Amino acid sequence: MAVRLGCIADDFTGGTDLAGMLVKAGMRTVQMIGVPQEPIGDDIDAVVIALKSRTSPVDDAIAESLAALRWLQQAGCQQFYFKYCSTFDSTPKGNIGPVAEALMQALGTKFTIACPAFPVNGRTIYKGHLFVGDILLSDSGMRNHPLTPMSDASLVRVLQAQIKGKVGLVDFNVVSQGAKAIKARFEKLQAEGCNFAITDALCNDDLMAIGAACADLPLVTAGSGIALGLPQNFRQAGLLVDNQVADALPATGGLRAIISGSCSIATQGQVAAMREKHPAFNIDPFELAHGTDVVAEALAWTKGKIEKEPVLFYATATPEAVKAVQAQLGVEKAGSLVEDALAAIAKGLVAMGVGQLIVAGGETSGAVVKALGVDGLRIGPEIDPGVPWTTAITRDTTRRPIALALKSGNFGTPDFFLKAWGKLK
Ligand code: ADP
Repeated sequence: MAVRLGCIADDFTGGTDLAGMLVKAGMRTVQMIGVPQEPIGDDIDAVVIALKSRTSPVDDAIAESLAALRWLQQAGCQQFYFKYCSTFDSTPKGNIGPVAEALMQALGTKFTIACPAFPVNGRTIYKGHLFVGDILLSDSGMRNHPLTPMSDASLVRVLQAQIKGKVGLVDFNVVSQGAKAIKARFEKLQAEGCNFAITDALCNDDLMAIGAACADLPLVTAGSGIALGLPQNFRQAGLLVDNQVADALPATGGLRAIISGSCSIATQGQVAAMREKHPAFNIDPFELAHGTDVVAEALAWTKGKIEKEPVLFYATATPEAVKAVQAQLGVEKAGSLVEDALAAIAKGLVAMGVGQLIVAGGETSGAVVKALGVDGLRIGPEIDPGVPWTTAITRDTTRRPIALALKSGNFGTPDFFLKAWGKLK
């Protein structure tokens, strides 16, 4: 069976968020890191290609997004989804509007929606205005974002400033009447020459109704919320297997390890809980800066322990300790020294037979995934909100499958490192 839904996300964690939503809604999903070089398996319903195009120059963002679109078209996708942040992170130059228009042109369509709403996370749209919790986007912390400051909550105005076409609104009065009314309003807006419809949404029922109304649109542009409402269309058309377990992963065995380069508060608690129960090796940035072969020491220390139980390697430290390191080594140098060492340890561990690996920290995960030559991730069962188990997709098909859990710093309960293994079926 061909892939049904092709998604292009403008950053990595946004891609993970979307992929997780699709799996929950019953679509077997993989997330690819950048535009893939090769085709993927045929037991997949949705592919999310994660780019880093949110703040890159507009022309680069367009070129990358079009390359992703071409790959997804070749994979057989019937509908396409451009995923951006639920706070509509962009500037008057883009990149949301220009990328969406380029995708529309390539797909030969003149109409799509723009809906960053994600009510369970407090992102709602009313009369075209985006709210973050109880306040307007323009009154939220996003006003002071270093790269994409959002000083206007009117999505109609914000998007209109970015595009050549015309933006209209499907407001709450229409959305609350359901899919048929929304579809009729799409037609009216198109007759009025509109190319984009900002769609109000206050709750998940609204997202379901908007999703149903979008069944025939070649392109949908949205946050991850609309992912709730799209799978039903494929199911109704008989294009999804009924009652399938979308989060099943191929079996992975092997040894278990955790690598933590996150210094976030949640991770500090998780490291402390793990250290009480299992062996743990501390990575000292000063030793790294000194030129000590910490990686070799860490891998040698592992022997005799990892065969019996999961082991932890951590650079995680208190804010004071991190500040002291950064004061001496510089912020960037400290970061890259630690990331490189943890990535090298991950590589050594896999060579040693580790088949199930948890990584804590966004940047740390990026470094580890790169070192392991991971091209993509098949999304499996969720450990805690926003953190699923995955299996690595690599070009080297002779390799044993590796299960990876990539945890953003502040995610997960204190016992995350202890309980995660139990979620791997
Ligand atoms: P998070 O998701 O919590 O932000 P990241 O991995 O994205 O975690 O970022 C943490 C950064 O801090 C990484 O660049 C990592 O190398 C660095 N780091 C980790 N431990 C230390 C330490 N003890 N001293 C200085 N920097 C550290």
